[in-house]
Parts: sequence; structure tokens; C-alpha cells
Amino acid sequence: MTCDYIQLANDGVQRLRPYQPGKPIEELQRELGIHDVIKLASNENPLGPSHRALDAARHALDQIHLYPDGAGYSLKAALAERLGVGADQLVLGNGSNDVLELIARAYLQPGDEAVYSEYAFAIYPLVTLACSARPVEVESHLFAHDLAAMAEAITERTRVVFLANPNNPTGTWFNDHALDAFLARVPERVLVVLDEAYFEYVEESHYPDGLRRLARYPNLIVARTFSKIHGLAGLRVGYGVAHPQVADVLNRVRQPFNVNIPALAAAEAALDDVDHIENSKSENTAGLVQLAEGLAALNLEQIPSVANFVAFDCGGDAQPVYEALLREGVIVRPLGGYGMPRHLRVTAGTARDNERFLAALGKVLGDR
Ligand SMILES: *Cc1c(COP(=O)(O)O)cnc(C)c1O
Repeated sequence: MTCDYIQLANDGVQRLRPYQPGKPIEELQRELGIHDVIKLASNENPLGPSHRALDAARHALDQIHLYPDGAGYSLKAALAERLGVGADQLVLGNGSNDVLELIARAYLQPGDEAVYSEYAFAIYPLVTLACSARPVEVESHLFAHDLAAMAEAITERTRVVFLANPNNPTGTWFNDHALDAFLARVPERVLVVLDEAYFEYVEESHYPDGLRRLARYPNLIVARTFSKIHGLAGLRVGYGVAHPQVADVLNRVRQPFNVNIPALAAAEAALDDVDHIENSKSENTAGLVQLAEGLAALNLEQIPSVANFVAFDCGGDAQPVYEALLREGVIVRPLGGYGMPRHLRVTAGTARDNERFLAALGKVLGDR
């Protein structure tokens, strides 16, 4: 081979580090021969999906010889009604990651800049580099977005700012005053992507709803997902809500059938299952308390979280702790790739899973 196919790739792609997903349960079972494995690594809903969503997905299987409705008419109508927005403001994605990528593809060119925070969701630099645009990472404050510094970082070349509220992997959030002050400072030509993947979980009274700001800020795009509280991560459905012109642009670049038939059906049914959403929320709130108390009892410093996970400091290199937990059959997420080598992130599971995680962690740390 005389060609270097890495060198032939687009500039940004050469520098891109692939996303590191949580370890799949089957992989650990294969590698260590452990059967009783719990995964608290990918912020999935420990209660699973809504039964109504499952039934809808099963019924939809009868139709899978057909292409899906590429426009997602029915799901969009349901979302528009539930969210109080126009159907023309919506773009559906194969997960909200797809929506984030569509934004980058449509609005970022080589030489353009995309601003995001240190310790923010790893997909932001990834989609930016995939378009050979320049990622501009702004120093965080106590692991949280420093919105004033992010506003300062906007230049003539900035086209997109990515905000995660709450942020993954830190679980930190910003309030309505901070968001409004930020939006007021951003020029209209700069798109602000407000990633609200964990929106439904947050209970803080000053937590801002991005949708309520769309009318005032035509440069705002709100991204949400069915992967988290709705428990449909495996089906891949998310959506963006934006000004109709922006939604039009994003709909131009997406693949014509980017959301599949069972996913469309399940998502629509999930929206209506208010009980499942409420149960998932209260299970999570209890789980966060259980984890916070358990970690405190182990004298581990944690980053206060309003999402469905918590990041904690292992008091040293987290990698051996992560690996020892794997041997106990517990999968969590190491954060070295985020520049947080001392931290692990654990998803709030059922009371039983949390207990098992805390017991395993206590054992592993005691063994050090
Ligand atoms: C999980 C998550 C998403 C959603 O991912 P999907 O592609 O919808 O599964 C988006 N943003 C953040 C910050 C997340 O943690």
C-alpha cells in the first residue's frame, strides 16, 4: 500500500478522536466470563421503555418492508402539540446526535469556529472536526459551563455555540438568568445549540426551558431525545426545535429516511405515557439521592448533578477503579477521554443496582 488513507481524509477527520461508548454488557460477559453484569455507563433508563412504546414498536414491525414516512408527519404532529411549537419548527434525528451532526454539516465549513465548554459532551468537537471546522473549547468553572467566558470566545468566525443543560458527563446546569444573559450577548448570525437531553429529569425551579426562548431568539436550536427518560436509546430517535428557516435547512441535509418505522411509532406512544415519564423521574430522583449519600459515605468528592448520573472523584487515577469494578460485574464510565482521569461517571439505576454499585465500589476502594 503506497497511500496513507488517514492522510487522505479531510483535515478535521484526521484529528478526530472517535466517540468512546460505554462498554456493552455482552462484551464484558465475553471478556471476563461474568454473567451477572449491570451497566450504569450510558445514562439509560433503568426502568426500560414504556410498555405502550414497546407495543407500538412491535405493531410497527408489520410495516418494515415499507420505507418509513420520511417527513415523520405523525410524530411531528404529536411533538408539535405536546411542546406547543409548529411542526415546521421540527427536525427529527436518528438520536439527537444526528441532529447535532446535521447542524454542523449545514452550518460549519473549514475555517469556521464552533464554541463549546471544557468537559462538555464529546459529540460537539467530533461533529465540528468532521466538518473540518475549528473546535474552540472554553475553560469551565467548577466543571460547569462558564457562559460569560463562552460569550467572550465568540469571534467573527464563530457560527455555532454548543451548550448542554444539564451537561454530560458533569451533570452541571445553568439557570434561566445565566441563559438569558448569554443569549442576549450572542449575535443573531451565531447559532446557539441548547442540548436538553436530560430536560425531563431536572427539578430545579430556575432551570430554563429552551423552547420558551425560541420566539425571541431565531438563532436558538433546542435538541432533545427519546434516549434518556423515554428509555428508547436503542431505537435512536431525537429531535431539534428551531426557527422554521433553520428547521428547513436541517431537513434538507438529513437522510430522507433517518428515523425508522418502529422508532417513529414507539416515540409517538412514549410521548403519551405520562405515567412512565413520571415514574422514571421519581426513580431517578431517588437514585441520585442514594448515589450521593453512598458516595459521600465513601468520602468521595462528587460533582452535584441534576441529570440521571453523577461524576465522582476517585481520589486518584480512576482507570484501575473502573477495571476493578468491571471484575465485580459493574460497568461505569471512565472520563479520561474528557480530561477527567480521576473521575468516573455512574448512571442512577434501580435502588438495587445502585446498592450493588456502591457495595462493589466500597470493596474495590478498600482493596487498594
Ligand atoms: C445522551 C445525550 C444525547 C442524546 O443522544 P441520542 O443520540 O439522542 O441517543 C445528547 N446530548 C447529550 C449531552 C447526551 O448526554
